[in-house]
Amino acid sequence: MIKKVLKFGGTSVGTIERIQHVANIIKNEYDNGNQIIAIVSAMSGKTNELIKFSKNISANFDKRELDVLLSSGEQVTCALLAGALLELKLNAKSWLNWQIPILTEGDHSNARIINMNVSQINDFLKKGIAVVPGFQGISERGDITTIGRGGSDATAVAFAKLFDAETCEIYTDVDGVYSSDPNKIPVAKKIDKISYDEMLELSSLGAKVMQSSAVQTAMMYNIPLEVKSTFTNRKGTKIFDQHGIDYSKSVTGVAYSKDDAKITLIGVEDKPGVAANIFEPLEKVQINVDMVIQNISSIEKKTDITFTIKRDDLEKTKKILEENNKIKYQDITYNDKVAKVSIVGAGMVSTPGVTYKMFKGLADKKINILAISTSEIKLSVIIDENNTLDAVKKLHTIFDLD
Ligand code: ADP
Ligand code: ASP
Ligand code: MG
Repeated sequence: MIKKVLKFGGTSVGTIERIQHVANIIKNEYDNGNQIIAIVSAMSGKTNELIKFSKNISANFDKRELDVLLSSGEQVTCALLAGALLELKLNAKSWLNWQIPILTEGDHSNARIINMNVSQINDFLKKGIAVVPGFQGISERGDITTIGRGGSDATAVAFAKLFDAETCEIYTDVDGVYSSDPNKIPVAKKIDKISYDEMLELSSLGAKVMQSSAVQTAMMYNIPLEVKSTFTNRKGTKIFDQHGIDYSKSVTGVAYSKDDAKITLIGVEDKPGVAANIFEPLEKVQINVDMVIQNISSIEKKTDITFTIKRDDLEKTKKILEENNKIKYQDITYNDKVAKVSIVGAGMVSTPGVTYKMFKGLADKKINILAISTSEIKLSVIIDENNTLDAVKKLHTIFDLD
């Protein structure tokens, strides 16, 4: 008997018919003799709709109440799926976060699962199917928490770890992880196997098919994942450690996101301590600075400093910079119409010329690079938002991924 965690995303449970279809997938697995914990997302679009409701009440809607509100989306699908399984004459039962309980730590909207009581569900698995809402938990104080957008993936991984499940399968609306978003780049190819490292880079850089913190936990505890389709029987993508993965290609995938904003301080004094004075107050309020570029100093010892932050932090950053009297500059520009386009591949380490090839490809398309950042297995550039898909397509082609 194999213990399986099966997670179904928003589109997979987006209508009553789809929930019934999911119930049949689970029935099949259960009839094959497996123990099943099913984790569900809210119906697609529901979480966004609830966020909109909260914004209609207040731009600063209370964070505790927001988590109570958002967790309701998964509660609905959890009960509907358990009901659909009962209709199939299976023994099934739903549990809510506080009933298990799923313990979390950290801020509202951004909590992390740290533990849960497994005994009740483990007992039940001997005779039936457990259905659990993704994306949520409960704090030490007993408040409902949510664990970040796309967080049902992280719930699935946490369950796989704490219940010692043999498999953790992520059912979604595409049949695996592709070399780029298959809904935007039709020539993208499905990847059969991918390492945690590469998947982590791809998801942190915009491939939302897996939530990045879920991949991080899976990597930390060596939990193999499989991403597969709810709607077809095609083989999915296996995510595991690097062993047995072919790195003959330098680049495995191209990801993009529109989550960043670029700031340039023009005419900053070029002397020691200036950069520290700019970034210290940002660090204090945990604004994460991603890329930094400093131009060569002019004769008058003035320079320009460009950096990128998360777009959501732009207003806060503007205020902090404008109130910072430790720094002097001639002008400041903000640009939130930018995109980050990245190539990711463990094979990059051993292939010379990848950087040149990427820059040349963008130059051929007359796409201007506004900032650059690199790590061993990724190379990201910031470009004008309007050029995003052109850049992704070009890079996809020149790195032989089409
Ligand atoms: P779910 O609701 O099942 O969690 P998501 O919408 O979070 O599904 O993730 C699936 C979506 O991720 C796909 O529909 C696809 O558009 C997008 N996506 C982005 N990059 C990739 C990629 N490299 N491979 C596959 N899907 C991707
Ligand atoms: N419903 C949540 C969201 O839309 C969590 C999830 O779907 O994974 O972000
Ligand atoms: Mg998702």
